[in-house]
Amino acid sequence: MSAPDLPERPSLLIVEDESHLARGLRLNFELEGFEVQIAGSGREAFAQLARARPFSAIVLDVTLPDLDGFDICRRLREVGDYTPVIMLTARSLTEDRVEGLESGADDYITKPFELEELVARVRSAIRRRSWERQSQARMASVLSFGDARVDFDSHEVTVRGETLHLTKLELDLVRYLAQNSGRVVSREELLQQVWKLRNHPNTRTVDNFVLRLRRHFEPDPELPRHFVSVRGAGYRFILQPEDELPPGAEEAR
Ligand code: CA
Repeated sequence: MSAPDLPERPSLLIVEDESHLARGLRLNFELEGFEVQIAGSGREAFAQLARARPFSAIVLDVTLPDLDGFDICRRLREVGDYTPVIMLTARSLTEDRVEGLESGADDYITKPFELEELVARVRSAIRRRSWERQSQARMASVLSFGDARVDFDSHEVTVRGETLHLTKLELDLVRYLAQNSGRVVSREELLQQVWKLRNHPNTRTVDNFVLRLRRHFEPDPELPRHFVSVRGAGYRFILQPEDELPPGAEEAR
């Protein structure tokens, strides 16, 4: 599994009207390396969601003064917002759990809860979403990494806002490496899968093409962050370099 695609400092929205609980949660998540915002009602939650950059996850209390957590989650999903949601509920009835999950929540936890468990569930929901995004990236016709966007259908490539023209073979190589993101791919495998050459003695071709990709995509081709060499083994495509990962992400790799 490749490195999870997470922000450097995961951001969390806590939607909870009991202010002492909300503050306690904020303190603890901040100690865990999160950047935390609090909303005391459904209305505040939507205001935060509308203006802030996307949150990595939302901890959502079910019983709020205005809307209930199920409705909030349902509305988010209706508008295509798939931020991971962990519901906090005082109710442990099966119907509530089912309603929570059906409203599109990723997970729920019943009050009173162990803080460590909540933190672990939030982390795990963020990781799961990031893996889903990565596996979608494997299928999708558009690949985004760093400052680059590659549309394999239209062959449109932009890097730092500039349009580039890649050959079909270059595009095929990007696609194959990205589909195998995180895995070391040997030169022989690339010759076979991308060039469709079997037992071809000259693997220099591959090296030349990777150099071209680095010149196209890497801010510093001498210090590649995405098209990385693995000595004696081949190449590895890294969708999101490690220094962009949050604390604690290593255990998920
Ligand atoms: Ca409440």
